[in-house]
Formats: sequence, structure tokens, C-alpha cells
Amino acid sequence: MAKTDFYELLGVSKSADDKELKKAYRKLAMKYHPDKNPGDKTAEEKFKEAAEAYEVLSDPDKRARYDRYGHDGVNSQFGGGRGGATMEDIFSQFGDVFGGGGSPFDSFFGGSTGRQRSNDGQRGSNLRIKAALTLEEIGNGVSKKIKVKKQVECKICDGSGAKDASSVKTCGTCSGSGYVRQVKQTFLGAMQTTTSCPTCGGSGKMVTANCNSCKGAGRVMDEEIVQIDIPAGVEEGMQLSMRGKGNAGKNGGPAGDLLISIEEKPHENFTRDGQNIVNDLFINFADAALGISVEVPTLDGRVKIKIPAGTQGGKIFRLRGKGIPSIQDYGKGDQLIHVNIWTPKNLNKEEKAMMEKMKSMPNFKPNPGKDEKGFFEKMKDYFN
Ligand SMILES: [Zn+2]
Ligand SMILES: [Zn+2]
Repeated sequence: MAKTDFYELLGVSKSADDKELKKAYRKLAMKYHPDKNPGDKTAEEKFKEAAEAYEVLSDPDKRARYDRYGHDGVNSQFGGGRGGATMEDIFSQFGDVFGGGGSPFDSFFGGSTGRQRSNDGQRGSNLRIKAALTLEEIGNGVSKKIKVKKQVECKICDGSGAKDASSVKTCGTCSGSGYVRQVKQTFLGAMQTTTSCPTCGGSGKMVTANCNSCKGAGRVMDEEIVQIDIPAGVEEGMQLSMRGKGNAGKNGGPAGDLLISIEEKPHENFTRDGQNIVNDLFINFADAALGISVEVPTLDGRVKIKIPAGTQGGKIFRLRGKGIPSIQDYGKGDQLIHVNIWTPKNLNKEEKAMMEKMKSMPNFKPNPGKDEKGFFEKMKDYFN
């Protein structure tokens, strides 16, 4: 039997958004709701069809597959294959659609589709750690192994929390379904709602004897070595997250995430300014006057730079591409070398005599040219 197109079935266009889908499904669900059509098999079928169409189209992944491959692309929970769905399936999936407080429409507009399946365990909590990095590590990217204290799945019971297989019983309240149904009176008549079973918390199972190792929690505190790959270019305050590396879930639920806050360790030579790094170079005034070749540190080893004769204090040399790479891979910053002329603080008799002799020589008289910028001009240049 050829299946009706899901969009046609709900009476919406292919570009319908979430709100339109909900609205269309709500209309059909109310029209064919079994409580309003007692004993009407056709209405029940229509109700199921609408639920199936909504289940697929309200899930972005399933909808994309459906758009591409049609009915064959989606293995709907309710459709074909498994002999159709029971009303229980539909209520357990979309119970919140019919439930809620005064109006059965409330939850339709609340945006809470994708309700947790009643048998799902609880997700583990996120774990936060700090990673303190040197500028070298930030400049090159680094892979770190960090010991993390966290909740991990109990290996003795495989996360079930039970002593052994015979100590897991089906819950008597919900007969293992994990939910209980209630009938509520609304202005459209009696509506069924489903809620998580209060006895078993929705797992459908009861543990009669706890695992000795985890005392029934299904998880234990342990230490784990986690490898963290930190890309080049991160900065203080950034947060990286690793899915599923946080605390283990309860009752076999998914693990939380590991969140890594980046900290920058102070560097003995460099300060960071965005993607640039800045360092101070001190030379004596004889070298500044005569010129010299000096070694300076960079993030990847020492390099030689040439200080030309007549270099003034405050001059900034730029080593292109020796800074920090952009985290999005848009090139690298520079290293800025700030030249300081060292003035001697203690002079002996002989040195003093030399200085006295030099200071009256004509070339020692300060005579800045037009291209020798003062402090404010330099700052302007630097920040541009
Ligand atoms: Zn139960
Ligand atoms: Zn255990």
C-alpha cells in the first residue's frame, strides 16, 4: 500500500516550519483523537498516521532524510516494519502534546517536542577543568593528558546498579513501560496524559539488590586520563568542550561534557597583545650607535636580528609571522621587539672620564630628524 506523503497528510507545505507543523498536527490529533471517536477504527488509523508524519517531520535529521529518500529514508518508530504502533507508543512519545495544565494546547506552543523516552537514563553532569598554557603551547597548539576525577560507569554492574541479573525486576506500578497514564477532563472531553512512573522513575525496572561496588548508583568516582587537543591560537577565558567526556550518566544515560577553560601562564619574555607578542630588548648606547647583531627569543627558538647603527630607544622591530596564529586559521600575528637603550647606573673613574670627553663632542648632541617619531606618534602607529 502506497503511503501518503507526510506533508500532504498534515496539509502543510514542504517549507513548513516547526510552528506550522505543530499546528497542523494538533488539528488532526484533536480531530481524530480516540477519546472523541470511540470505537472508530478509521479515526484511530488517521490519528496514528498523523503521529507518524509529525514524528518524522518534527525531527530535523529524519526530515532531511525523508526529503531526500522519501518513506524509505526514515525508519519511523510508528510506521511500517514493526506492525504499526499502539496508542501507548503515541502517548508515550507525544504525551506532552496532550497533557499540560488547563489547556491541551499549551504544550503545543511550548516548543517541547523531542520528549525524553521514558526508558532513558539520566544524563551525567558536565565537568569543568582548567588548562593553564604557556604562550609556546598557545602558539603551536598542544595535546595534553590531564588527570580528571569524575564519575565513571561502574564496571562491576555495567552501570545498571544491580547486584546481578536476578536482582532486576520489572516495575509493578507501570508493568515495565516506565510511564503511567491519567485521564484528565478538558473542554474537548477526556484527554489522556502520560507521566513518568513515580515508582521506578521511568526506567520500568526495579533493582531489588544493589551492586556492592557502586551501591546502586551505576557509577563510581574514579580518575581518568583524558587527552585534550588544544588548537593553536586559543586565549585566556576561552572554553573548549569535549562531548561525552564529563560525568557518566545514571542508569546508563549519556555522559555529560568536559568543559575546558583556557588560562594563559605569564611568560618571562613575552606579553601577548591579541595575535601579536611583544618583548623588550635592552642594548647599551654604544651598540645602539654602532649597530649590532643580537639574538632574541621567539616562540620557536632564538633568532638573530640586526640592529642598525643609530637606532633610537623606543624603536619597534617587527618579526612578521612570529606571533600567535588565529584560531580560525587566518594567518599569524607578529613579534614586536621594543628596543630600550640601557643607561649605565654606576660608572667608575675611567668610564666617567670617557663620558665627560664624549658629551661635548658635536655628534652627541640630540638632533632628532623629522622621521624620528616621539612617544605619542609611536603609540599611534602601534595601535593602528
Ligand atoms: Zn514503573
Ligand atoms: Zn555497580
